[in-house]
Amino acid sequence: MAQGNHALINGNVFTADDAQPSATAVAIHNGIIVYVGNDDKAAREAAGQDSEVTDLAGRSATPGLIDAHCHPLPYGDSLANIDLQTGVQSVQDILDRVREAATKTPPGQWLAGWGYYTQTIREGRPPNRRELDSVAPDHPVALTQRSGHEAATNSLGLKLGGYTRDTLDPEGGLIERDEQGELTGVLIENATHALGDAATPDVTPERAEANLRRAVESFLSFGITSVGEAHLTNSDALRLYQKVQSNKSTPRVRFNLMLAHRFALEAIETLGIETGFGSEWLRVGPMKFFLDGTEGQRTARISQPYQDDAGNTGMWMFSTDEFRERIIRAHLAGWQCAVHAIGDAAIELTLDAYRDAQRQLSRPDIRHRIEHASLLRPDLVDRLAHENVIPVPGGRFASNDYPVLIERFGAERVRWYQPWNSLLERNIPVPVSSDAPVQSPDPARNLWAIVNSRSEFDRDHIMQPEERINLEETLLAYTRNGAYASHEEHRKGTLKPGLLGDVTVFNTDLAAVDPLDLDQVRADMTIVAGEVAFRSDGVNGSH
Ligand SMILES: [Zn+2]
Ligand SMILES: [Zn+2]
Repeated sequence: MAQGNHALINGNVFTADDAQPSATAVAIHNGIIVYVGNDDKAAREAAGQDSEVTDLAGRSATPGLIDAHCHPLPYGDSLANIDLQTGVQSVQDILDRVREAATKTPPGQWLAGWGYYTQTIREGRPPNRRELDSVAPDHPVALTQRSGHEAATNSLGLKLGGYTRDTLDPEGGLIERDEQGELTGVLIENATHALGDAATPDVTPERAEANLRRAVESFLSFGITSVGEAHLTNSDALRLYQKVQSNKSTPRVRFNLMLAHRFALEAIETLGIETGFGSEWLRVGPMKFFLDGTEGQRTARISQPYQDDAGNTGMWMFSTDEFRERIIRAHLAGWQCAVHAIGDAAIELTLDAYRDAQRQLSRPDIRHRIEHASLLRPDLVDRLAHENVIPVPGGRFASNDYPVLIERFGAERVRWYQPWNSLLERNIPVPVSSDAPVQSPDPARNLWAIVNSRSEFDRDHIMQPEERINLEETLLAYTRNGAYASHEEHRKGTLKPGLLGDVTVFNTDLAAVDPLDLDQVRADMTIVAGEVAFRSDGVNGSH
């Protein structure tokens, strides 16, 4: 069978191309789309002799899905770690899983767990060090909250991380203490880093590679063909991406790398690399900055205090002067920027920094981004539109408990939390992202959450009735807008001749699915560069 040749016929094809929004057939030849239209015979011919032919039998095909912001290495890790996400309701549930892992792991090795969510634990907190000591006295433990912004450890973990009674809280972080000043084992924001560093010697290059491959397989099984790596922080990780992407014999997704500014800004200025450098498989994306924290930890930086914590307006992750200065430097060096900003004050400061940078040197098509851009306000939505800044909302609504957001901010402010419809109405090209492992990259869950404006924590409640968008708008966000956000719309994100042959085939006709059942759909087949990179059981191509 010829590589990269494939004809898809007899389907309901969503092209994301305004010139021809729907079709029944797509042909890919040598990895590139050569035909989109309604003539199955023409599609077979265009794909070439010996190409695989898939009869879609009315199922939907879309441009390969783009997850604009996630963390493939921690995601792959999370697939290998103790699962603290599924079915965890109490401290005891977590302790049971840690105890079980301890029996299977040689003493002294780290036990890593991922995905607890304080708000759904009956006690409203993770286990403390003493409780963890009781089930794992001989293993250091590192349990990470689903957001990645909080961790819980035991006495051995505290020791190896270098935390003592006398350790001061780092800038932008909190080492939790009890009334006697004793460490509880809970670490918040930048205070988690020493624990993470201590636990990484166990991550050998082989294990890191296996984890990345595991993540890639998972993305492909969900129909995702392009992934934004949202925080590349070191040369080992960069080498790993190069290694995995150079192996053409295993299925691949396409990666867009956001480089952490602390790691990359000075080097980039020296080398002269700009956003866009690289290949269709591995491209250098934006320069990444962290400006504030999250809602759950009340560290997102907001203009008015938290409703449930008077006087607290969150944290800056680093000095605002230094932030502005580094944004301008990245902008002048030819870089698209991407800033993690969740609170409205952080979003506003980011917009101000981008405006200052544009005043120094106008780059009208640089497409600076704000990752999460969660707690918006009407004036900030207008500024995003007028100043051509792209918000990347992530699936935080689906991952956050809505009542928690109401507690933190009150209903009036939550009205403008990631307001999809208001953003799209102003022609802002918003992409979809999962922020995996914060949330599952499963598009079924993301489509369901966005189209219905509901949270998995309370499926009956519509959170923002006026901000629901329809399926087509959501699919456009998942494909064309994702490509635009990484400056690649001329190469992917729509199905039209000349673009990359990346296609997602669903198990059903999406247009016929009740919106409330969208979480049941799945990918049947994932095609990357014309080759089948994933196939669920029961789907067979033929000649
Ligand atoms: Zn973030
Ligand atoms: Zn992220």
